Amino acid sequence: MSVIDPRKTRHEAGILQQRLRRHVGRAIADFNMIEAGDRVMVCLSGGKDSYTLLEILQRLRERAPIDFDLIAVHLDQKQPGYPPAVMAQYLDELGIEHHIIEQDTYSVVKRVVPEGNTMCGLCSRLRRGILYTFAERHGMTKIALGHHRDDIVETMFLNMFFGSKLKAMPPKLLSDDGKHVVIRPLAYCAEDDIARYADSRGFPIIPCNLCGSQEHLQRVKIKAMLAAWDREHPGRVENIFRSLQAVVPSHLADTSLFDFRALGADADGAVPDARAWFMNDASAPSGES
Ligand code: SF4
Repeated sequence: MSVIDPRKTRHEAGILQQRLRRHVGRAIADFNMIEAGDRVMVCLSGGKDSYTLLEILQRLRERAPIDFDLIAVHLDQKQPGYPPAVMAQYLDELGIEHHIIEQDTYSVVKRVVPEGNTMCGLCSRLRRGILYTFAERHGMTKIALGHHRDDIVETMFLNMFFGSKLKAMPPKLLSDDGKHVVIRPLAYCAEDDIARYADSRGFPIIPCNLCGSQEHLQRVKIKAMLAAWDREHPGRVENIFRSLQAVVPSHLADTSLFDFRALGADADGAVPDARAWFMNDASAPSGES
């Protein structure tokens, strides 16, 4: 049986916290995520990512040169077996403004989604709606979510494979109705670092799947694909993430991002006018037209 050395664990947690703080600080600066006077609502799901996010933001806030508020918000979705005391106790001991919203989305999802289908899509939409409404009512200026670098890369592959779009999950986003600014301060953090940090801190994890649903199966497959790549070529996921910050539109094929038509135009910018023919007649059998 291996013996856990508490000094070693504390030392590792310290190193991890330093690295996570550096990444979070850089993401906040790069995307101007938090400004003086902000009321930042940190959505705590009960998973490792959001606990880590809240703790790192608290540490940064203690030393930040600007004032901003952190408000922890958790949604009790009334899943069977949900332990109500766990989050309440954790939040009480934190000493910051916090709220637990109780809303039975579990029954709604169970009623609407056919047996055997994954419920996560509808469940997430309902959760988002409740949290956004709460944020608006309580004057929150930013909504912080715990998505990290690996979530962002996985989402990019999901969108490429199933949506034919080169689109990931942005570190900062204006909601569709223009009312909320959503930030993802863990955008530069590796999931593995977060998992090890959460482990070392002993956060009281509340599993998401108390509802009995499964995580999106395709996401699970993509996660496994990325993990295999990273084992074979360490640093690959980091490189993929960095490629999202070094986009070269002239070497992609989106005509709305780069004016390929103007390439090779004559001196006064005129484009040879064969475009209509190429678009409409190029596939006609020879001899017609
Ligand atoms: S696992 Fe359950 S609680 Fe978690 S997102 Fe999916 S449906 Fe919702």
